[in-house]
Amino acid sequence: MTSLNDTKILVIEDEPDLRAGLQHNLELEGYQVETAADGREGLRKARDDRPTLILLDLMLPGLSGLDVLRQLRETGREMPVIIVSAKGQDRDKVQGLELGADDYLTKPFGLGELTARIRAVLRRTQAGARAGAGDRPAVAGVMQFPDLVVDWRRFTIVRDGNEIQLSRYEAEILRMLVEHRGEVVSRQDLLRKVWGYVHLPTTRTVDNHIARLRKKLERDVENPVHVVTVHGLGYRFESPLLEES
Ligand code: CA
Repeated sequence: MTSLNDTKILVIEDEPDLRAGLQHNLELEGYQVETAADGREGLRKARDDRPTLILLDLMLPGLSGLDVLRQLRETGREMPVIIVSAKGQDRDKVQGLELGADDYLTKPFGLGELTARIRAVLRRTQAGARAGAGDRPAVAGVMQFPDLVVDWRRFTIVRDGNEIQLSRYEAEILRMLVEHRGEVVSRQDLLRKVWGYVHLPTTRTVDNHIARLRKKLERDVENPVHVVTVHGLGYRFESPLLEES
């Protein structure tokens, strides 16, 4: 597990006073801090400097916070992101969570709230990354289903001979469904276990991630054979396990 002083936080914020204040206070808390003043610089530093966590303002010059997040996730960067929004940006906030942000803060926020959120997100995401290593022995290694191979160590699947990378959330959703294969898993359970402590306004976020997961897993997304919808209840992983190694 990463110790506190190995934890590098990238603060992407265009307001100079707020940026400097966040840097100062997070350094006092013992974190390493990098900063970026606009979206492009933020994206570049997120890719090159490999921060442990990103604090991402939504309203940025050049490239918006949502654009930064989208481009990070599209290129397989799965580091945790906490978005920072102004009051009245609820739609952007929801979109940010659907793009794979881990939590959000609304300005103005206090230092105590900020550090509590950072700790909670780090605890949750680091626990998720460790989960394959031992505390969930039911799902590990490589599992083969009809027309589908899942490699839990690398979060990849193989379908029709193509290897496809899963995002962290897609992998966590799939893991939970496969652990409970044959049973219905409710949206609420997925929200609680996969996202943990986040004030998600709606379970639609789960449905959107399931839709993205299906595009990767299913030959025909209109007639899924692996992850099926159980109307009014949730989702069920239906494929029989053929082989495990
Ligand atoms: Ca701003």
